[in-house]
Amino acid sequence: MNYKPHIAVIGAGIAGLSCATTLQQADITVSLFDKSRSPGGRMSTRRGVSQNKDGGADNKYDWQCDHGAPYFTAHHPDFQAEISRWCEAGVAALWMPEVNVLGDAAATCHNLDAPRYVGTPKMTSPAQFLARAVALKLQTTIQQIESQTDGWRLQSAEHGWLNDCFDVVILAIPAPQAVPLLLQPKPVWAALAATAKMRGCWTLMLQFATRVALPFDVGCVSQGPLAWIARDRSKPGREGAESWVLHASAAWSATHLEDDTATVAALLVQAFIELGGPAPQTWTAHRWRYAHAEPGLDKVYVWDGANEIGLCGDWLNAGAAGGSVESAWQSGRHLAQQVQQSFAASCGARPY
Ligand SMILES: Cc1cc2nc3c(=O)[nH]c(=O)nc-3n(C[C@H](O)[C@H](O)[C@H](O)COP(=O)(O)OP(=O)(O)OC[C@H]3O[C@@H](n4cnc5c(N)ncnc54)[C@H](O)[C@@H]3O)c2cc1C
Repeated sequence: MNYKPHIAVIGAGIAGLSCATTLQQADITVSLFDKSRSPGGRMSTRRGVSQNKDGGADNKYDWQCDHGAPYFTAHHPDFQAEISRWCEAGVAALWMPEVNVLGDAAATCHNLDAPRYVGTPKMTSPAQFLARAVALKLQTTIQQIESQTDGWRLQSAEHGWLNDCFDVVILAIPAPQAVPLLLQPKPVWAALAATAKMRGCWTLMLQFATRVALPFDVGCVSQGPLAWIARDRSKPGREGAESWVLHASAAWSATHLEDDTATVAALLVQAFIELGGPAPQTWTAHRWRYAHAEPGLDKVYVWDGANEIGLCGDWLNAGAAGGSVESAWQSGRHLAQQVQQSFAASCGARPY
């Protein structure tokens, strides 16, 4: 009998997608779960409706903003090759904005000269491209994982205990969200995830009726609450109303993480005006509780072959510079290769 293992990957950010697609390419059956309405995790895009001049709302989306990772870079040849594949498929492209350093931004602006890539026509596009190859179940928040005699069982907030039973379970979610899932089956890993530090980030998306007359597309900022401002429409493949995204600095975000949205928005808009920008027509705020994985853990991934459970994500592969799209992609891919090797090594003792 030719038994094919069935693997559950929890989290359809770039780490989970990279892991799931690598396993799928090795002819392993994968089910991918995510609590959100679309894949991509922190590679995310918000769309919305701005106000007409007469005050009425348009019926369809007329602005968009990448409010998570604004771009990604590629250092390793494997990730460079993956980006080339995305570019060929039309879901990513090089972004060459006019960058201004506002103040002494050496501390906040890394990789100023490295080529920057973005998803096209939006940051979620590479994730949607990868997700086409796997069985993805969205709006499924996994609340509990349990190892039973027939394999791993998953319980979700929306659907209760899932019918399927899995040979392997992989968690590709931020460390603080992994902790409660690991407490019962892997308390040591729960403790490991609890040590990972992830910084928050307040993000504000601004919409304007006309083009903002700032002489740059990206500002790397070191003064006041802001760290990064960018004209979303300067990215390739963007259409719609002029929109800018503002990221508050890690320190400012930490101090104001529990503040109410209106207060935060007022302070960030004021900081934008002080940099020479106009008051926006409308704004939308987003608080990322877990935006950036800090350097610290340098494990790439973790894997327990005896119990067939693994972890991947940017927080395990944060290196010296912190987590990134590239480090998350690498983490998922390396874990998938490890799982394949484990299957290959044990195939004599197992029914597959
Ligand atoms: C504001 C901001 C700016 C950034 N800037 C950059 C940058 O310039 N360059 C760069 O390379 N990186 C940047 N990053 C970091 C980059 O986005 C991340 O490192 C990377 O996307 C992490 O991928 P991941 O797959 O590990 O995690 P995530 O993208 O967080 O994916 C995890 C997924 O798991 C899902 N999930 C969580 N819990 C559960 C559950 N219980 N059940 C089901 N699903 C669950 C989530 O919905 C999510 O889709 C930035 C991030 C933010 C937020």
